[in-house]
Amino acid sequence: METPSNFLRAIIEEDLAHNRNEGRVVTRFPPEPNGFLHIGHAKSICLNFGLARDYGGRCHLRFDDTNPGKEDPVYVESIKEDVHWLGFDWGSHLHHASDYFERLYGFAVELIRQGKAYVCSLPPEEMRRYRGTLTEPGVNSPYRDRPVEENLDLFARMRAGEFPEGAHVLRAKIDMASPNMNMRDPALYRILHQEHQNTGSNWCIYPMYDFAHGLSDALEHITHSICTLEFADHRPLYDWILDQLDVPARPRQYEFNRLNINYTVTSKRKLKQLVDERLVSGWDDPRMPTISGMRRRGFPPAALRDFCERIGVSRSDSCVDMSLLENCVREELDAAAPRAMAVLRPLRVVIENYPEDREEFFDLPNHPKNPDMGGRKAGFSREIFIERDDFMESPCPKFFRLAPGREVRLRGAYLITCTGVRKGPDGEIEAVICSYDPQTRGGDAPDGRKVKGTLHWVGARHGRRAEIRLYDRLFMAETPGKDADFLTQINPHSLVTLTDCVVEESLTRAAPEDRFQFERQGYFCADRFEHTPEKPVFNRTVGLRDSWSK
Ligand code: ATP
Ligand code: MG
Ligand code: MG
Repeated sequence: METPSNFLRAIIEEDLAHNRNEGRVVTRFPPEPNGFLHIGHAKSICLNFGLARDYGGRCHLRFDDTNPGKEDPVYVESIKEDVHWLGFDWGSHLHHASDYFERLYGFAVELIRQGKAYVCSLPPEEMRRYRGTLTEPGVNSPYRDRPVEENLDLFARMRAGEFPEGAHVLRAKIDMASPNMNMRDPALYRILHQEHQNTGSNWCIYPMYDFAHGLSDALEHITHSICTLEFADHRPLYDWILDQLDVPARPRQYEFNRLNINYTVTSKRKLKQLVDERLVSGWDDPRMPTISGMRRRGFPPAALRDFCERIGVSRSDSCVDMSLLENCVREELDAAAPRAMAVLRPLRVVIENYPEDREEFFDLPNHPKNPDMGGRKAGFSREIFIERDDFMESPCPKFFRLAPGREVRLRGAYLITCTGVRKGPDGEIEAVICSYDPQTRGGDAPDGRKVKGTLHWVGARHGRRAEIRLYDRLFMAETPGKDADFLTQINPHSLVTLTDCVVEESLTRAAPEDRFQFERQGYFCADRFEHTPEKPVFNRTVGLRDSWSK
């Protein structure tokens, strides 16, 4: 048998070999609907759904919705959309922790009956003080020995809404001297007089994450409950709760390393701050490391899956280079994206010996290595646009593109030679004057003479105006927030909007989200929301070469 590629696979294969859990593998992805999903969640999605797929099991999507104040149906919808877009499906297993509120309440009552939970009425600051510190044991709450009947009565009245927030909490009775702070009589329920996005005003007490999570796993017959490393010292509590109660299944928790990427943040709280303070256009701003942002930027879902596969899982935290993610995107797009020509900063070229009333069309392949992707026609006439950067009036030594007296190739069209420039009143170059060699149709000279530069171009008569947005890293700091407030480290040049671009006419037929390689410029996609045939808008997904590693 093949060696499993990570420790979680090794655990699952071992469980299957011993026919544990009746030979089933059931995982879950449990987001809290308090923000949009980011690249870190993509790792967890690929992991959980990927394991279920590879071992013939299933993966549930469960909304971990136990914090009503921060949750919103908008987030619920975006999460569903993002998981589907990534290529995964939960089938009939869409669940909410809130679906179990009644049963969770029953489990809490059961713990009280067993004398393993009590209603504590210490004010919150006092409760914190009684908890002790890492170096000092905690102190038992004066309410710890409340009689069971009194606890049952108070808990029922908490549920009935008789008390204000903070008046009481239900706590597990474990060990106030435990070296693990999570075991020092943790809170299981608190009073919150808040509407819930799923249960409305049915409840005014809500279970804590640690209580709800393991029990929800058990109710869904989850076999492997996979979470990030910061939950490792919650595992004793996870186990303790399940061990006290008569649950329908006994899931196990396993932890893996969180994904961190340089030059960005992977915390919903921080991403929300960027949105709330309008430092980005929204959760799906193409600079955001959210799944919807990356989607809008043009990242293909297959590239994200490939990336998550390549970074692997382990039990030690580390930071992954943004260039690894972008290389996965480039690799995917190099094969899948049709080529096209777009001029971002246009400079007019007038081909003097080309008849004014003439036009012709060149057949250009959509992909140099894949004839199955077909071709397109690019219209050519006396005036064309080239990139401003592709011309220098007084060229520097290593400049091999267009300059006075120089000959260059226009991709797929003709060789042209610069014969002069036309300047405006303030000395600005308005147009480059050229002549073309009619013998070089298609781009090669019959006499075999070599030209060094090949330029992309768009016909002035046939091209269309477009807006192109160039995106760069959102943060200047490699680890935002490390040496300063992350909000002060935003890259002021992370978005450059060019409104005077010209693109091949064929690009006006692009559908939103279609992806292309604009020759010599990078990969671009038609904006998901703003691109129309009348007003084309393209987003730069990534440049052709790695610009991160220096
Ligand atoms: P954040 O800190 O961004 O709010 P979270 O862990 O609170 O993230 P949840 O909605 O609770 O967000 O996460 C759902 C699942 O995704 C959890 O199982 C969590 O462990 C996992 N997850 C979240 N962030 C990452 C990350 N950076 N890398 C890997 N998995 C992650
Ligand atoms: Mg969480
Ligand atoms: Mg969180």
